[in-house]
Order: sequence, then C-alpha cells, then structure tokens
Amino acid sequence: MKRFSILIAALCLCLTGCGKQTTEAAAQIFAMDTVMEVAAYGEHAEQAVKYTEKRIKELENRLSRTKADSLVSGLNRDGSIRHLTYDYWNLIARAKEYRDATNGAFDITIAPIMDAWGFTGDQFRVPEQSELNELLKHVNSDEIQIQEEPAHSVTLGEGQAIDLGGIAKGYTSDLVEQTFRANGIESGKISLGGNVFVLGGKPDGSDWRVGIKDPRNESGLAAILSLRDAYAITSGGYERYFEENGKTYHHIIDPSTGYPADSGLLSVTVVAADNGPDWAGAGNGAMCDAFSTALFVMGEEQALDFWRNGGYDFDLVLVTEDGRVVITAGLADRFEEVKDSGYTYETVS
Ligand code: ADP
Ligand code: MG
Repeated sequence: MKRFSILIAALCLCLTGCGKQTTEAAAQIFAMDTVMEVAAYGEHAEQAVKYTEKRIKELENRLSRTKADSLVSGLNRDGSIRHLTYDYWNLIARAKEYRDATNGAFDITIAPIMDAWGFTGDQFRVPEQSELNELLKHVNSDEIQIQEEPAHSVTLGEGQAIDLGGIAKGYTSDLVEQTFRANGIESGKISLGGNVFVLGGKPDGSDWRVGIKDPRNESGLAAILSLRDAYAITSGGYERYFEENGKTYHHIIDPSTGYPADSGLLSVTVVAADNGPDWAGAGNGAMCDAFSTALFVMGEEQALDFWRNGGYDFDLVLVTEDGRVVITAGLADRFEEVKDSGYTYETVS
C-alpha cells in the first residue's frame, strides 16, 4: 500500500465538425493493494482520470488499516469519533445496514479476526479456535452507535475495531462514478482488481464486455458479461490466501465461526445498475461489494434466497466448487459462456 503510481495516457480520438473533441485518457493506479485500471472518454477525459486518481488516493489514506493516521486507525484506537464528514459517516451507516440485511454474514467488526489470521499485516498464522471464540465476542456491528445529529459521531462497542476491506473498493467505484459524471464523461470503465464499474457503453456504442475470472485458472475466464451503466463486483477466496500444512486459508471470514468461509463457492459476482449515489456518495458499488462478500459466506442456497427475497435489486454469477456457473435471470441475455472453461452453466429464476 505504500506504492502508488499512476500513468496517464491521453489520446485525441476525433475532431469532428461540431468542434467537440473526444479524448481518451487511461491510467493504471496502484492503491488498496490492488492494480486499478481506469479509462475514460469525453472532452474532459484527462481531467476525469486525474481527479479519479486523487480521490482514490484520499480514500486509501482515510480507510487504510495499516496507516496509523487514517480515519479508520484513529477510530479503532480511540473507540469513538466525532465530526466525521458525512460521506464517511454514511459509509459506516451503510455497512451497518448491510450487516442487518445479510444476517451478520457481512460485518465490518471482523477486524480483530482478520488480525488474528495475520491478514492485516501479512504475518499469516492459523489461530486456535479458543482465541477466535474470544475475539468473536466483539464481532457484531449492531453494537456500533452512530449518531447523525449533532456531530456525525461513531462509537464502537467495547473491544471492537472495524475493517472496511469488504466494502472499500465498491465504494471507491461509486466515487469514480461521481467523478466521471461530474466531468461529463459519456463512456468509461474502471476495474479495481476485477471489481468493475462501467459508465455508458463503449465509445463505439456497443456494450462493455466484462470478464469474470475463472477462480481455478488465473489466466482464464468463467463467463463474460455485456454491461452498460453497471457495477460487477466479485469476491473470491482465490484473491488473497496463504497455505499452511497443505491447507489453504483465504481472506473472506465467516463471522459465525471466525474461519475462512467454506460454503461451496469459489466466487460470487454481484451485478447492479448504476442508479447514482445516495445523498452522501455511496451507491450500488458499495452495496455490490458488501453483498459479494456476504453471499460468498452464505453459500449458493442462501445467496439465491437472498437474491429472491432480500429486498435489493441485483443479479448474481456464482462459480461453485463442483464446477457450475449459476447465473440469475436478470443476466440471462447479458452473459456468454466461455468455451472449454470446463464449467456447466445454469440460469436460475
Ligand atoms: P476483495 O477485497 O478481494 O475484493 P472482498 O470484497 O470479499 O474481496 O473483501 C475481503 C475483505 O473484506 C477482507 O480482506 C477483509 O478486509 C474483509 N472481510 C472479510 N470477511 C468479511 C466479512 N465477513 N464481513 C465484512 N468484511 C469482511
Ligand atoms: Mg466485498
């Protein structure tokens, strides 16, 4: 997370009779331990990409758990914070909402458990169940008190700490959406390590093609989606893990056990339309990210139940351990099978 680099390439695409220039700007940004690729098309594309970089950097500095002076580190140290800017206050409020919506499968107070496994500082170890049980007593974001008036305050429960890793990249894509729109971008895409937001269609008017990584094959794809104005956000155990005594331990934790989720899924992609951000900047990107983590914890059956009855509007692509790609009905005419991937494909309604 210490490295941060950006490369901006701007290209003049056309100078048409109307006198309006369409420029393409593209950049690679390293932030949040992730290689991010951004591309924007429009008169102010270069400005949009520069501003995107700036906002991502700011966000990383605020949300990081490894930077001692970040907002999150301060809150975890002091247990309480007042006069938060409304956007961060609102993000924590959203995270609490998603905890309730997913019956605790998504819970930002997972922080002490992440630490125990060594995922926070890359000092991996397998903790004793007794140690985890002790820490699990502090995992419940219902105990976080948030107060909008008079001071936008957040107070953690006794012994609690938060980790926004399960929602930060989706929230970042919400900010990119705002930045693109504020700069008049008509067509754009950002991929934050496989978490994708697309604005409009491609410059030629066709849909963006968004590949879903094959969790079993680093260089392959499990499916391809055709999308416009949408988020497609993936959680998978293959993204971050370590091995000990021949066993693999990944970074998505089941808050009911303290162990890496083992629900029969290899990855969960949550797709939702770009409905614009709420009053404080969070939108469907934050939602998709929280739900992709939660549904990975839940497993296929519960995930599909949540899709049907959870009261939120999104679609899913589930890749299962037994070699199936399960697609929910809303994506039926937006996905392509990948030949020779070895998966069988099912659409569910
Ligand atoms: P990625 O970061 O690879 O896109 P996720 O969105 O699933 O994947 O986020 C995983 C991160 O979320 C972990 O590194 C940790 O910071 C946090 N996390 C892990 N388990 C949970 C959970 N059950 N609820 C909320 N956050 C979690
Ligand atoms: Mg997530």
